[in-house]
Amino acid sequence: MSDSQDCLFCKIIAGEIPSTKVYEDETTYAFKDINPKAKVHVLIVPRKHYANVAELAKADPAELAHIAEVAQSIADKEFHGAYRLIFNTGLDAGQTVFHVHAHVLTGEKLDE
Ligand code: AMP
Ligand code: ZN
Repeated sequence: MSDSQDCLFCKIIAGEIPSTKVYEDETTYAFKDINPKAKVHVLIVPRKHYANVAELAKADPAELAHIAEVAQSIADKEFHGAYRLIFNTGLDAGQTVFHVHAHVLTGEKLDE
C-alpha cells in the first residue's frame, strides 16, 4: 500500500503527472480515467491522501458527501443525472491505487 509520498494520485493532484481535469476546488480534484469503462469515466479524489473510502468516511465525512455532490453535478451535465459511483476497496476488490477515488461512470446507458 503506497503512502502519500509515493502516490500516483498525489502526484496528479500536485500536477507532477499530467491529467485531464474535469473539476476542481479547494478540497477536491476530478479527472478523466486513462482507461475509460464508460463513455464518461471520471475519478474524483480528495486532495488530502486517504487510502480508501472507509478512512475518508472516518476522518472527513463532509468530504465524502462533497464527492457525492461533485459526482451528481458531473452526471447532471453529462447524462441527465444518471451515473454509477464506485469505490473499489482493497486489492481483492480491484483497488490498484491506494488514494481514495470515486469512479463516476456516466454519459451513456449502463448495463445492469
Ligand atoms: P482502482 O482500480 O479502483 O484503484 O482505479 C484506479 C484507476 O486509475 C483505474 O481505473 C485506472 O485506469 C486509473 N488510472 C491509472 N493511472 C492513471 C492516470 N495516470 N491517469 C488517469 N487515470 C489513471
Ligand atoms: Zn495520495
